[in-house]
Amino acid sequence: MKIEDLISRIAKTPGITRRNAAKLLFHFIRNKEKISDFTKILQTIEKDIRTCTSCGNIAFNHFCDICQNNNRQHTIICVVEDFEDITNLEKGMWYNGIYHVLGGLLSAQKGMMPESLNTLTLLNKIRNNEVHEIIFASTSSFEWQATMHFLISEFKKLPNFTSLKITEFAHGLPIGSSFEYMDEGTLQIAFTARRNLGE
Ligand SMILES: [Zn+2]
Repeated sequence: MKIEDLISRIAKTPGITRRNAAKLLFHFIRNKEKISDFTKILQTIEKDIRTCTSCGNIAFNHFCDICQNNNRQHTIICVVEDFEDITNLEKGMWYNGIYHVLGGLLSAQKGMMPESLNTLTLLNKIRNNEVHEIIFASTSSFEWQATMHFLISEFKKLPNFTSLKITEFAHGLPIGSSFEYMDEGTLQIAFTARRNLGE
């Protein structure tokens, strides 16, 4: 094993450049006492982090912190592509509903078919009259629009569809943009100016 090999292996991690990988490696070589704490973080990810059975967010228990929070409005559900989007949307602290994580968007290219999406618990909540509003935290990408129209067609099959309010983040979010790169102000405006899709 060579140092170069170790750097290459660390640099395979998304978000870590070769330069950062080298820094990280040399940091641990210099400070070996810090390795066990870092290992514990990785073990926590491996053993303790699971998927919330209600919404698909990351969770340490059966349900995530947001689903367990009774101060949030559980009748308003913001549908997102990935659990990472929740972290970005929660930064501003202006949203008080809950979320639903699809785990991807429809894409023939990526092999994402309707059955690949996490939709079961969402459809059940609507069926059980537990939902007042569905908010699509969508961008104008083709995949998002296709996914949203598919989901709306699924909602329409439910008997209580007419009492459901469906909204989408205001247009103007750039195509394929990630919430990660949007400031809180832009996101809040897109949320507040969300448009109604149900009419
Ligand atoms: Zn949850």
